Amino acid sequence: MEFIDLKQQYQNIKPQVLKRIENVLDHGKYIMGPEVNELEGALSRFCDVTHAVTCSSGTDALLMILMAMDIGPNDAVFVPAFTFPATPEVVALLGAHPVFVDVDKETCNISPSALEDSILKTKAEGLNPKLIMAVDLYGLPADYDALALIAEKYDIKLISDAAQSFGGVYKGKKVGQVAIATATSFFPAKPLGCYGDGGAVLTDSDELAKKLKSIRVHGKGRNKYENIRVGLNARMDTIQAAVLIEKLKIFPREIELRNKVAKKYSARLTNVTKVPEVPLDSLSVWAQYTVHLQSEHERSHVQDVLSESHIPSVVYYPEILPNQKAYIKYVLPKQRFENSIHLAKTVLSLPMHPYLSDNDINHICKVLQGVLIEEFSQ
Ligand SMILES: *Cc1c(COP(=O)(O)O)cnc(C)c1O
Repeated sequence: MEFIDLKQQYQNIKPQVLKRIENVLDHGKYIMGPEVNELEGALSRFCDVTHAVTCSSGTDALLMILMAMDIGPNDAVFVPAFTFPATPEVVALLGAHPVFVDVDKETCNISPSALEDSILKTKAEGLNPKLIMAVDLYGLPADYDALALIAEKYDIKLISDAAQSFGGVYKGKKVGQVAIATATSFFPAKPLGCYGDGGAVLTDSDELAKKLKSIRVHGKGRNKYENIRVGLNARMDTIQAAVLIEKLKIFPREIELRNKVAKKYSARLTNVTKVPEVPLDSLSVWAQYTVHLQSEHERSHVQDVLSESHIPSVVYYPEILPNQKAYIKYVLPKQRFENSIHLAKTVLSLPMHPYLSDNDINHICKVLQGVLIEEFSQ
């Protein structure tokens, strides 16, 4: 059994994907070939946004947004304490200050009340609160309405790190529509992945899209030898775009299948552990199916038993970012990350992909029920 099975999916779409890749090899436009444009059109239609600007990775998508917004020294960018390191990394790369914010212990996403407290703290430190970067952890959109109210109150902008949630829905709106700019990733293991690195920014702003397209090709102006700003080499390869065009076609069906898997897990596990819940009117794309165990001790016992039964499981993430060597210096005085610390000790992600069989789900749930009931009665 695999944690994320990409080979099964490939078997289902092999002829189409190979044909697309062969087309690229035949026309030879390996960089910014016609497939890049075609994919951008398909992505923007999928999310119902005006612009999809593809790029080389989810990390570069985040970096490009920050560069387009002129984030720099002394600017505070609010990020969850419990996320993947790329989120604060791009802030620090630009010389700005990532300000960590505790997360909600139910949704694992940035906590609106902790956010407000952090904004007040940055003002006391002489930083300029500029931007909130919400993360849709495990594929579940953050609470954008609550965040937008705070953003408005303090006159700061709200963007989205949707690397794990492309295809998700928040209160009836697709991911991509709920922030002024949304970054996503097409890393192979993400819900929509290519066969290498890739990413995109989604936005309704013409002005932002124009800047992003310039930044991704060395800050180009009318052509690449006119440089009007400092930029990056952050283009998506044509071959990756070709792969994604085909994978996007089956993605709506895959989102349904992922939700079916999650439902089956939850129905079986809700009596023995804390299962993830999706708020009304939202849709998760289940980048991970993550249960919350009671303690670090219980989690490591559960992981051992799973692994003896050849069931892979992963901890996303075992350490909060404010405690990491690279980021500890950004922690402001008297900041606390209680929920994040608790989650880092207790979360456990189970195998999740659209093609996980009923047999496998039954086996995983049986083993988990066994170990947790036994644990319970001790
Ligand atoms: C994967 C991920 C990224 C980075 O995406 P890459 O394509 O790997 O650069 C950023 N943020 C979060 C929350 C992620 O999960």
